[in-house]
Amino acid sequence: MIEVQNLVKMYGKHLAVDHLSFTIEKGQVYGFLGPNGAGKSTTMNIMTGYLGATEGKVLINGHDILKEPEAAKRCIGYLPEQPPLYMEMTVLEYLTFAAELKKIPSSEREGQLKAVMELTKLQDVSMRLIQNLSKGYKQRVGLAQAILGFPEIIILDEPTVGLDPKQIIEIREMIRKLAKNHTVILSSHILAEVREVCDYIMIISGGKLVASDNPENLEKKIGGDGVTEIQVRATVEEVKEILSGVPGMGKAEFTDHKNGLVTAKIESSAGQDIREELFFAFAGKGVPLLELTRTKTTLEEIFLELTQGNIVESEEQIDGGDI
Ligand code: ADP
Ligand code: MG
Repeated sequence: MIEVQNLVKMYGKHLAVDHLSFTIEKGQVYGFLGPNGAGKSTTMNIMTGYLGATEGKVLINGHDILKEPEAAKRCIGYLPEQPPLYMEMTVLEYLTFAAELKKIPSSEREGQLKAVMELTKLQDVSMRLIQNLSKGYKQRVGLAQAILGFPEIIILDEPTVGLDPKQIIEIREMIRKLAKNHTVILSSHILAEVREVCDYIMIISGGKLVASDNPENLEKKIGGDGVTEIQVRATVEEVKEILSGVPGMGKAEFTDHKNGLVTAKIESSAGQDIREELFFAFAGKGVPLLELTRTKTTLEEIFLELTQGNIVESEEQIDGGDI
């Protein structure tokens, strides 16, 4: 339903978006995750027709955002990073104005305003001036504006930034409600936030898409099955000798506790689970395996690694290592 093809944005000589391509399917919540300056807002501004791209194409339900902006924009509601609120208007005045701009037929206007204010819990402040509202309420007004017209796709740029924890929870609840009937794309530089509400995560770093999948697959694909840690009663040499006969072995690190015990942190070469192989290898040699634990790579670690420009390919095999 949204196709972004080979998007490039240069600000002068600065490459802010670097050949970005992805597809957004209907009915899911997508998260653009990336540190500040990654290019999230620039991408969203281009997708919503607020900013021209240097190269590339954005299709919204088949409509080119540049060639058929009206048809494309009708499918989208957008809450930019700095919502364009008119501070001297009341909430109701502003939303009525937004409904007119969106060309919502006057017969539907009242009903929609009511529905949107109910969803964003703005009924009690509808007569208040926007300038007198708290940051949390202002954000809800921005959200209400994005939802008006009930477009298929709702795009929210850092919807919870600068809010207190209670306000964050409220906005997240609203996003979840919206997700029942809409495709939602939101951006954030906070992993926990994206994991909490998104079905699909796209990690953006330096204007590039460095990884994308659902949270579970991201952990599996990039983190593999992580590292297996064992503790055995043996010498480091004995452990190395036994490990060298274990199929699928990758890199290993050893700690000699000098009391007859050795700890080894072991990676499997293709990320597979080698716990059983380890058990039988040590048992076969009569070496007591005292501990065996698998530590999974967390999404947090993946995010940090990917956004520090230190990309680990899932296919990358580390053979041999220390053994
Ligand atoms: P994000 O939303 O992920 O924090 P942005 O899209 O705002 O990232 O910015 C991407 C990069 O482009 C940053 O390095 C930023 O400094 C730069 N940038 C953003 N807007 C402009 C602009 N109007 N002029 C020049 N550089 C910009
Ligand atoms: Mg931004």
